[in-house]
Amino acid sequence: MQAWSQRERSRGRRIAFVPTMGFLHEGHLRLVDRARELADAVVLSIFVNPLQFGPAEDFARYPRDLDRDRALAEARGVDCVFIPTAQEMYPVEPLVRVAPGPMAESLEGAARPGHFAGVLTVVAKLFHQVEPDVAVFGRKDFQQATLVRQMVRDLDFPLEIEVAPTVRELDGLALSSRNAYLTPDQRRSAIVLFRSLREAERAWRVGEAAPDALQRKGLETLAAPDVHPEYFALVDAGLTPVDRVTQTTVALVAARVGTTRLIDNVVLGEGVGADPTVRG
Ligand code: AMP
Repeated sequence: MQAWSQRERSRGRRIAFVPTMGFLHEGHLRLVDRARELADAVVLSIFVNPLQFGPAEDFARYPRDLDRDRALAEARGVDCVFIPTAQEMYPVEPLVRVAPGPMAESLEGAARPGHFAGVLTVVAKLFHQVEPDVAVFGRKDFQQATLVRQMVRDLDFPLEIEVAPTVRELDGLALSSRNAYLTPDQRRSAIVLFRSLREAERAWRVGEAAPDALQRKGLETLAAPDVHPEYFALVDAGLTPVDRVTQTTVALVAARVGTTRLIDNVVLGEGVGADPTVRG
């Protein structure tokens, strides 16, 4: 992988990188489109990273379809699809890992202990392997993108981080590889994550600036069959809970729908209406 990147760079080509866990959907492919705008060559990696899954989580059953992923990536103009094996990535269990710090303690980090240490460790390794000039992440995983930015800043990784908007289905559900787990009834219920963000956003737009009131509104909207809310939070760009909601405040939601854990978010000033939608 490094030899490929070094050859590209020696030809004066700028490299953009899109890390994924595969089972590609239009959300991933929009990151590829953005990467293409930012560079001359695009690398997409597919690696289901065991380090970021808890012992009771879905690592073993995470959806995988490498043939389909390869075809989708190539059709979208990816120059290099990088698919390391677990054995190549972790010939031995790594003793040294990235400590993600306090921003990893809340929200997803609280629900999934060790998750962000696993994410940042594999992202650091991938950055060393791919040596990109720019890497593109989705806002869908807001806390992840924030932590990757912080790691790059704090540890002087020589690349830029770009964050692209969340791609949604026509009814608003954020695209996710995990949506494949949902039964038709659960798929209908899952729309309440999007609605909770939209309702909080609406309330803020008509003048409500108290985070507690918006949180209450969000949690109320999450009531649906088989939906088990985990959090509805209002934080600033550094993931700290806010006292007063402004246009830079981010509303983040997590809920289990059946046994499937889903997350979503909106930057209130931008609004869910600004996100791209696609036919599912
Ligand atoms: P994953 O394969 O779920 O690890 O995601 C790989 C990258 O795609 C991450 O940067 C995600 O934030 C991004 N991503 C996943 N779903 C979406 C979506 N619906 N819209 C935009 N980006 C997404």
